[in-house]
Amino acid sequence: MKTEQIVLASRPTGLPVSNNFRIEQVELPEIDAGEILLKGMYYSVDPYMRGRMNDTKSYVPPFEINKPLNGSVIGKVVESKSDNYKSGDVVVGSFPWQKDFIATEKDVRIIDITIARASYYLSILGMTGLTAYFGLMQIGKPKAGETVVVSAAAGAVGIVVGQIARIQGCHVVGIAGSDEKTKMLISGFGFNEAINYKTISDMNKAIAEACPKGVDVYFDNVGGEISDAVIKNINFHARIPLCGQISLYNSTETPMGPRLQPMLLTKSVLMQGFIVSNYQAQFPEGIKMLAQWIKEGKLKFTETIEHGFENLPTALLGLFKGENTGKMIVEA
Ligand code: NDP
Repeated sequence: MKTEQIVLASRPTGLPVSNNFRIEQVELPEIDAGEILLKGMYYSVDPYMRGRMNDTKSYVPPFEINKPLNGSVIGKVVESKSDNYKSGDVVVGSFPWQKDFIATEKDVRIIDITIARASYYLSILGMTGLTAYFGLMQIGKPKAGETVVVSAAAGAVGIVVGQIARIQGCHVVGIAGSDEKTKMLISGFGFNEAINYKTISDMNKAIAEACPKGVDVYFDNVGGEISDAVIKNINFHARIPLCGQISLYNSTETPMGPRLQPMLLTKSVLMQGFIVSNYQAQFPEGIKMLAQWIKEGKLKFTETIEHGFENLPTALLGLFKGENTGKMIVEA
C-alpha cells in the first residue's frame, strides 16, 4: 500500500521554516509474522525535536536528511500478524512521521483508553507529565510553604509542574507569554501568581513582587533572560531542575548572559540538568501517581490539537511561537 511521510528536506538555520520539511509518498510492504500495521491517530510535537534537526551529537541522534522525522505517536492497529495485538487496539510508541507504518511487537505498548483519552498518553500520562513529576519531585524536592517558580508555565510540562507544586502546598508562580495564558493559570489551574514575560519591562522586579519570600525551587523550561531574572531572586539552598532551554534552541550564536556561578555558590544552590529517560525505571510509579491525582480531581490538563497529518511541521514550529496551551498534538 501507499502512504505519506514527512521528511527533513534541509537543516534549518535559526527558526525552522516550512521548506525544511517535505511530504513524500512511500510504499509499505506486506507485514511479516510478528508485525502489525498501524494507522497514526495522534502525533506528538516536542521542543527537543528542534535539536534533532541540527547535525550535532546529543542524547538522541539527529534526524537524517531525506528521511522521515520521528517521535511519539498513538496508533490504531489495522492489521496484525502478532498473537499479542488485534485489529482495533490502540498503542503508543516511537514512530516515523508517516500516516501508516509497520511495527514489531516490541515497538509498541497498548494504552487503556477507558482511563484517559488516547492523546493523554503523549502528555500528562506520557513524556511531558513524567518530566514534570520526576524533575520537580526528585530534583526540586518542594516542601509545603516554599515558593516554586516555573517558566513556560502554560505548556505541557509547566502546567503540570505548577499543579504538582500546589498539591505539595507551595506558593506557585508561573511565567508565560500572554495575558490569556497567565489568567488561565490562576483561574483554571490554581497557580497563585502568573507573569506575562512579554509585557513586563522589569522581570527581576516582577519575580521579587510575586515571590515575597524569594524562590526556593525554579523549574527552568526556557533559559535565557527569564531564567537570569528568576535566579537573581533565588534563596539559600534553592533547587533548580534544569529541564529545558527553549529560548535558546534557535540561537545561531553562543548566547551570553550574567555569570551565575558565584550566586549559586554563595547561596548553596543545587542546579541539576536531567533528561526524563534518566527515570525510566520509575515510570510506572510516576504514571500511577499522575493518574491518581487526575482521578482525585487535583490535576487538570489541556491540549492544543492541530488537525491534519500535513500540519505536523506547522505545529512543531508553533511551539516556538507560543501557539500552544498545554500539550501540542496533531490529530491525523
Ligand atoms: P511547551 O508545551 O511548554 O511548549 C513550548 C512553550 O515554550 C511555548 O508554548 C511557549 O510558551 C514557550 N516558549 C517558546 N519560545 C520561548 C522563548 N523564546 N522564551 C520563553 N518561552 C518560550 O513544551 P514542553 O512542555 O514540551 O517543553 C517545555 C520545556 O521542557 C522545553 O524546553 C523542552 O525542551 C523541555 N523538556 C525537557 C525534557 C527533559 O527530559 N529534560 C522533556 C520534555 C520537555 P509562551 O507562550 O509562554 O512563550
